[in-house]
Amino acid sequence: MKLSDKVFLIQQYFDEILPNASCELTYYSDYGFLISVMLSAQCTDKKVNKVTDALFEKYKTLEELNNASLADIENMIKSLGLYKNKAKNIKSITKDLLDKFNGVVPISKDDLMSLSGVGNKTSNVVRVELFKIPEFPVDTHVARVSKRLGLVKEDDDVLAIEGKLKKEFPKDRWILLHHQFIHFGRYFCKALAPKCNECKLSGFCNYIKNKSK
Ligand code: SF4
Repeated sequence: MKLSDKVFLIQQYFDEILPNASCELTYYSDYGFLISVMLSAQCTDKKVNKVTDALFEKYKTLEELNNASLADIENMIKSLGLYKNKAKNIKSITKDLLDKFNGVVPISKDDLMSLSGVGNKTSNVVRVELFKIPEFPVDTHVARVSKRLGLVKEDDDVLAIEGKLKKEFPKDRWILLHHQFIHFGRYFCKALAPKCNECKLSGFCNYIKNKSK
């Protein structure tokens, strides 16, 4: 099947089953969202939401969070993987936001990526969610689904995948598609036991092809 046909069918199917896909991290402030995305590395959104609900209830402003002790932040986020590093990142991010950015989450990718624990993916997610800037952040779900559907090569890294998805899909669809890919990967095309029986994309899926070999 031609790539352009696949791209059309994927959009049509995702719009049918996931018309309103959106971010599942809960947040009450821009800096809170930035911190939540940083915390979500190698963790589920559910776990992060539980932790941030308590964290931002206790420390209600950026200044209060900046004055929190590292030990207390560690204690409050210790159910998350890599919590020691993440706690240090929170301290560093709050300080930098206050000292360098007037307490405001910056919009530029370079500025975002200057913050501790904020890489390409996190900065893209922040730009999409807070500023509605068209980006196509690639997480583990987006990468897996793209590979299974033959949109990218098996050995493509996240940057290559991001570049190809941006090229293949219309720019005005990137934000919604990014959420749709994540939801599809999280709830349908799971890493283990994907729901292939009910999937309308099985006709050109590499996972199915490889299974029947
Ligand atoms: S057929 Fe299965 S593996 Fe392939 S895209 Fe659909 S759910 Fe994913």
